[in-house]
Amino acid sequence: MKTIDLGFDRTHIWHPYTSLVDPFPVYPVKSARGVLIELEDGRQLIDGMSSWWSAIHGYNHPDLNRAVCDQLESMSHVMFGGFTHEPAVALAKELLGIVPEPLDRFFFCDSGSVAVEVALKMAIQYWAGRGNSRKKQMLTVRSGYHGDTFGAMSVCDPETGMHRLFSGFLPEQHFAEAPRCGFHEPWNEAYIADIHLKIERHAADLAAVIIEPVVQGAGGMRFYSPCYLRRLRELCDQYGVLLVFDEIATGFGRTGKLFALEHAGVVPDILCLGKALTGGYMTLSATLATEEISSAVCSGEAGVFMHGPTFMGNPLACAVAVASIRLLLQSGWQDSVLRIERQLKRGLEPCREFDGVADVRVLGAIGVVELKSPVDMSAIQKRFVEKGVWVRPFGKLVYLMPPFIISDGELDRLTAAVCDVVRESYSVL
Ligand SMILES: *Cc1c(COP(=O)(O)O)cnc(C)c1O
Repeated sequence: MKTIDLGFDRTHIWHPYTSLVDPFPVYPVKSARGVLIELEDGRQLIDGMSSWWSAIHGYNHPDLNRAVCDQLESMSHVMFGGFTHEPAVALAKELLGIVPEPLDRFFFCDSGSVAVEVALKMAIQYWAGRGNSRKKQMLTVRSGYHGDTFGAMSVCDPETGMHRLFSGFLPEQHFAEAPRCGFHEPWNEAYIADIHLKIERHAADLAAVIIEPVVQGAGGMRFYSPCYLRRLRELCDQYGVLLVFDEIATGFGRTGKLFALEHAGVVPDILCLGKALTGGYMTLSATLATEEISSAVCSGEAGVFMHGPTFMGNPLACAVAVASIRLLLQSGWQDSVLRIERQLKRGLEPCREFDGVADVRVLGAIGVVELKSPVDMSAIQKRFVEKGVWVRPFGKLVYLMPPFIISDGELDRLTAAVCDVVRESYSVL
């Protein structure tokens, strides 16, 4: 068998957030099946990451494979301008059955970041369509993450998103403090005061508030109270500002609800989905809006919504998304996520006692160990691989979000590895 040319990779190919001068090591993968990722040297790693929230059914699932192969037989892609096709219509209908009313207008795009760009554009075009061309700015909270393209990045946390590096080019948005009421903590109106002030002060310029409901993902893996979202919805209505939820990470069961917004019973004007949409098979995202939004967007000067990527509504991706949603709905995912939640709580609890640990928190199938100082990523990653698990920490966060199909035994090995590696990283300091 031909081996993967690691030297070539190291010199020529960028990986996410890496240097080509002093690259982190990468591990050559041969295949992946179920919750196991097989390296080229034959070692099998238990997947703790679901390839960044996406592979909820594990890898190489027969139903999803079949959906891709079947679709491939008829067409892999045709342009969406002037054409439509069954996979796109089927996906919109499938989503319509699971998202809250009245979100029933769909824009299928190629990645999460683009779904966020589309949401921001929709918000601006909505106000323009209603004759208000002043409302073009966004308000968001600190510690958020919405993607890496410029519009999306402009609403990411300004510190971790390194906004100053791109100042002058990056649109400047408004930021309120990160939600600080814990998920189970009793609500106090003081928790909404800062964002209230900012909405009130900037309402005339604000097109929308954008936020990740309940779980802030890559910006800090923080969980916050659903009450915050209920109050935010009221404030947005009161001051005439749209509300955009970014469920790209939280969608499709990860937090214990099909969508995190269900914890709050709040419906946004615009909703972004991605990541687990295709069960991790292909890149696809969706921006959903209400009829009120779409009709205002289309009644403005442009008369149309100003976006249309080449691979919009890609049939292969839509077909596998339909199969993934059907598989999820018939999988008993609630029980799986509950079981994973209980086991993550139990398995990660010992970390609380370790010196270097600031916090341990679990919600749904997400388990987080927050450390007091940043980890040495390549060293800690190597230790995890030696233990036969795939865990990829960032900054001060070591976290698990396994595929929903993981067995109790496999999950035990994941949590035990996290406890061991966290303990030993701090005892050597
Ligand atoms: C990952 C993520 C994005 C960006 O999605 P990409 O597919 O990486 O462009 C946006 N928002 C949230 C909440 C995410 O977790």
